[in-house]
Amino acid sequence: MRALLGGAIDIVFGIGGGFLFRICGWVCVYYVVFISLAIFSTSIGAACCFDWPLSGSSFLRRFQACLLECLKSRYYFYSRTRIGYYYHQQDIKKAKEKLGDNGHSELTDFEYGNLTVLPIPMLLDNYAYLVTDKKNGKNILIDPGHAEAVQRVLNSRNIQPDAILVTHKHWDHSGGNDELKGHFPNVPLYGGAEDNVPGITRTLVDKETFDFGDLHFKVMFTPGHTVGHIVYLLDGKPFDAPDSLFSGDHVFIAGCGRMFEAKPSVMLASLDKILTLPNETLLWPGHEYAKENLEFACNIDSENSEAQRKLEWVESRRESSLCTCPSSIGEEKSFNPFLRTSEEAILRQLGMIDCGDFTTPSDEIRARALAMIREQKDKFNYKL
Ligand SMILES: [Zn+2]
Repeated sequence: MRALLGGAIDIVFGIGGGFLFRICGWVCVYYVVFISLAIFSTSIGAACCFDWPLSGSSFLRRFQACLLECLKSRYYFYSRTRIGYYYHQQDIKKAKEKLGDNGHSELTDFEYGNLTVLPIPMLLDNYAYLVTDKKNGKNILIDPGHAEAVQRVLNSRNIQPDAILVTHKHWDHSGGNDELKGHFPNVPLYGGAEDNVPGITRTLVDKETFDFGDLHFKVMFTPGHTVGHIVYLLDGKPFDAPDSLFSGDHVFIAGCGRMFEAKPSVMLASLDKILTLPNETLLWPGHEYAKENLEFACNIDSENSEAQRKLEWVESRRESSLCTCPSSIGEEKSFNPFLRTSEEAILRQLGMIDCGDFTTPSDEIRARALAMIREQKDKFNYKL
């Protein structure tokens, strides 16, 4: 009996220990690489500056600076490696513990004639989208970051997707690609040619178009959040509806994505593309960030009554966990500070113009304003 018990304990500790060892191993490798890189760059930097040998405190200061730089490369590991996928799985687990299977928002169909757009809540605040052309029975999935959440909806409606579209490589938008490919091996998976999106079978470039039934999509290349981010513009005409923009992490209601992989001038050019769209175009963003974004908009653009009015509406929707999508491009022009870098009120609040006459700002000034607004937003409320 004792031998049996001993054996069982060995097995339990063997499995648990093995798992712990694997996790600890990964964490050790991760930090050893960072620290080695920091020591290496500090030594090279010091040798190149011809002031070697450094005093102890000077070396330590430079070592700390280099360590900081190396830690910033955590983003690289998140966005480019399977370590990022591991963190993504942890995020899914946390969201499930906090919100259960139903997620952060109620499932609500938005109908426009034969067109239906269904935002699918995933993780803590992400949306995938199911776009349906009822007349031709075509179903398109957009940004399936969590396969299980999407699959649950597909199963409940007995639907198979005709294609999967992805806006950018971050795991919360593309993490379900491989699993869904397993379920639907013949379904094409579309993504930007320059963004290294996992699992895609068809790469897309700026202005490319493609159709499924009456669903006509056009690609807009919008680098800034990532180097190859794209957004999808759906033609509303066949449905007698406004066009729809599926904007991923490029533009949110009253916000824009963090500039991880491009300079503010690049992001500005991508945001200006959005401003060329008709005012009635519907905006379907990749996250439920409206409340936090509008709180910030009301702070940085304190006289803006449109931002105040929209915030009140959003607060009442969120009290019942209702989705705040879509907004329209016309609305965004009136309160989204990231699309308003030409506006006098914003530039004055940023301290970029003084009491003199207001003249139309150059793109250089607007890019600086964009960088300042982004920095202030990051301090106000950190979101991707
Ligand atoms: Zn992203």
